[in-house]
Order: sequence, then C-alpha cells, then structure tokens
Amino acid sequence: MTSTTTPEFWRKCSSCKKPLPFAQRYYVCSVSTCNRVRTGLVFCSVACVDAHIPMMNHKDAGAIEKRAPTLAEWQRDQAEAAAAAARPAPAQAASSPSSVQAPYVPPTPTGDLRRDILIVVSKTKDYVRAKSGLNTSDGVMEVLSDKLRAILDEAIRRAIQDERKTLLDRDLK
Ligand SMILES: [Zn+2]
Ligand SMILES: [Zn+2]
Repeated sequence: MTSTTTPEFWRKCSSCKKPLPFAQRYYVCSVSTCNRVRTGLVFCSVACVDAHIPMMNHKDAGAIEKRAPTLAEWQRDQAEAAAAAARPAPAQAASSPSSVQAPYVPPTPTGDLRRDILIVVSKTKDYVRAKSGLNTSDGVMEVLSDKLRAILDEAIRRAIQDERKTLLDRDLK
C-alpha cells in the first residue's frame, strides 16, 4: 500500500465525470447489469442516471440513492482487497488452536523401518576389539539391530498398554 496516495474523491460520475466525494449521496441505475461490481456505474444525480437510460436501451430503469463510503471505509476495503489478493489460499492451519490435540495414534511402520542399523557401528566394533581383539563383520550389526528392535517392540507394547506417550527405562526390564 506504499504507492497508494489518498484520493481526493471516491469515484467519478459515469455520465458527466464529475467527482463523487466520499461519504456523500450518489445514485446507481436500478438495472442489475449496470450495478455489477465490475461494471459499477455510479452517478452524481438522478439527472445523470436518466441521461444514461436511453443510451443503454433500458425499459424499466430508475435511480437508486446510495451513500458513498467514507475515506476510512474505502481505505479499509482497499487494504482488504490487497490482502486477499496477496493470499491466494485461506490460511486455515493458522486459525486452528493448538490446544486441540489429536488422540495418540502409534505410527505405522514404513517399508525401510526394519532394515535400519540402530546401533553405532564404530563404537560396537571398538568395544569388541578392545574386549577381545576380534574384528566384527557387518552382518553382526544387522543381527544386533534386529535383537534391539525385538526388545524395543516389547517395551513399546508395555508403554502403550500403560497409555503413556514416553518409553521408559522400566519398559525394558
Ligand atoms: Zn453526473
Ligand atoms: Zn443502467
């Protein structure tokens, strides 16, 4: 809105082009096609409404008295229109209060979940080497991960049974 300067008047009469001031009476044609937002014919006087009626070939047309918006109302409408244009989709997520919590649903395991190595490979190899001087093959890591998963699955089952959201050390005992 930085480029918008305060206008001297609201709009111009569609017939005589006289400025229509803010917050003053103006007139519209009673025919709906002249009243659409996009057409938006506005007139300064009943005489100007009458003047356009023969040009538009209206049959039962008349003048309807209205009041122009105040400058404040007009500026607010402009700001709202600009904001609506800058925001193509309504931001629904932002309006939902965070206090509403969805019930806890355990996540469904995905395809790769079963194949990850869960342990720190280098530290496990270091431990085996320090303890025994043995090397450790990579297959050991997969078997250890499977065993760890079995232990965790059992612990998870206990935690869910207790309706907790945190896995505790006592679940592993
Ligand atoms: Zn006029
Ligand atoms: Zn008309």
